[in-house]
Amino acid sequence: MLALHDAAQDARADTAGALVVVDEAYGEFSHRPSLLPLIEGRPRLVLSRTMSKAFGAAGLRLGYLAADPAVVDAVQLVRLPYHLSAVTQATALAALEHTDTLLGYVEALKAERDRLVGELRTIGCEVTESDANFVQFGRFEDAHAAWQGLLDRGVLVRDNGVPGWLRVTAGTPAENDAFLDAVRELMKETSA
Ligand SMILES: *Cc1c(COP(=O)(O)O)cnc(C)c1O
Repeated sequence: MLALHDAAQDARADTAGALVVVDEAYGEFSHRPSLLPLIEGRPRLVLSRTMSKAFGAAGLRLGYLAADPAVVDAVQLVRLPYHLSAVTQATALAALEHTDTLLGYVEALKAERDRLVGELRTIGCEVTESDANFVQFGRFEDAHAAWQGLLDRGVLVRDNGVPGWLRVTAGTPAENDAFLDAVRELMKETSA
């Protein structure tokens, strides 16, 4: 995030010569504050956000950007007409009416995410710091075999093809417990 703050500072300089776009798709899950307050006075800083993650509404395909009014006006000129269906708009408005409830789930998910990080480390895994709703853990000599081992125990995680690492999305406490049990078994089996 330090680098992002530097980029945001650059966005204020006339010499930057380009827009600096910061993707805050997982912003609501972060330990750190949004860069939203930095937009004021930085006409080249653009933040993109989405309802896909924090609002649990990936099917809506609704995102938005926050930027200086001049940037927003320019985007209005080039955006497609009727790019958001009436149903999407109605659903998004309904979701916004329940912002407190929906963002309340984010707080619970963040707590579960942090619990996953802590417990995976206790089990003996390496874990990458996470500001999202998922956690990268490893290291496995053969990540794909580990992925299969978890699947054999009824737990589906993601193999992103990063050698040695897998990715798990934080779920309900019961789902996370089942995942952690499966990892414990797997670690026992592979170290035996
Ligand atoms: C989900 C996501 C987005 C936004 O996706 P939409 O569903 O199209 O709004 C943007 N960036 C990243 C890294 C994401 O994971």
